Amino acid sequence: MAMSLGDDTLLCNYPKCRAKLSGFAWVTACSHVFCDQHGSGEFSRSPAICPACSSALSGKLDIVRTELSPSEEYKAMVLAGLRPDIVLDITSRALAFWSYQVHQERMYQEYSLSRADTQLKQMEKVLTQQNQSRELELTAMRGEITSLKKVMEEYKRKYSEVSERLMERNRQYQKLQGLYDSLRLRNMVVGAGDREMPQAHGNPNSSIAMAQQATPQRSPHFLAAGPAGDGRFFSCLESEGAKAFFQFSSPARDNSRPFLTKH
Ligand SMILES: [Zn+2]
Ligand SMILES: [Zn+2]
Repeated sequence: MAMSLGDDTLLCNYPKCRAKLSGFAWVTACSHVFCDQHGSGEFSRSPAICPACSSALSGKLDIVRTELSPSEEYKAMVLAGLRPDIVLDITSRALAFWSYQVHQERMYQEYSLSRADTQLKQMEKVLTQQNQSRELELTAMRGEITSLKKVMEEYKRKYSEVSERLMERNRQYQKLQGLYDSLRLRNMVVGAGDREMPQAHGNPNSSIAMAQQATPQRSPHFLAAGPAGDGRFFSCLESEGAKAFFQFSSPARDNSRPFLTKH
């Protein structure tokens, strides 16, 4: 951007220098120009090679160190005495050098611009692709979240169903447990009362406690034992076989403990 056609400054052609030229400049026959630093550095060695285009600069006038703002005295004298066609030839060659430099700078600017444009487009492309893939990922994640929510709702529904059923089962179980307990208790009471009969004098305390509860009642065991009625059943149990029967039919517990104490 440093130079356009109207600009009156050339830039150093040394790669990556591009310094604005002032004071003295090094001008080459291959139409390149360098700042005083790069010109004196590059052209002090022999053979001299142009750092911009690698041309060999071996001629006596191939490299000229020029004062860019010459004095009035110099300008008054440098072309004086030359024929007009030679003056015009020199000025036209000098103008050609200038226009080449300007053209070269414009080419450089256009190249930089197009390279930047290409990079920009590439970056835009990459960004667009990234955006698209993120968008896809996001959509996939949203879908996953939606389906997970559905699964969770389904689980919640199933859970409430199952807990409902569990509560129902629990109620039924409690009912059955109550029924079972009362049946077992009835069974024990009847059984204990019968067992105590033959040895009523042996343990007075427990026999009294049991006798109070051991009212004859029907239970599944009694029914299973026979339809003959309580009287006949109890008389049956008075025999020696009764002990064996109750050991078999009572729940497996420590028989030595009085099992009615908790009631
Ligand atoms: Zn330079
Ligand atoms: Zn050159």
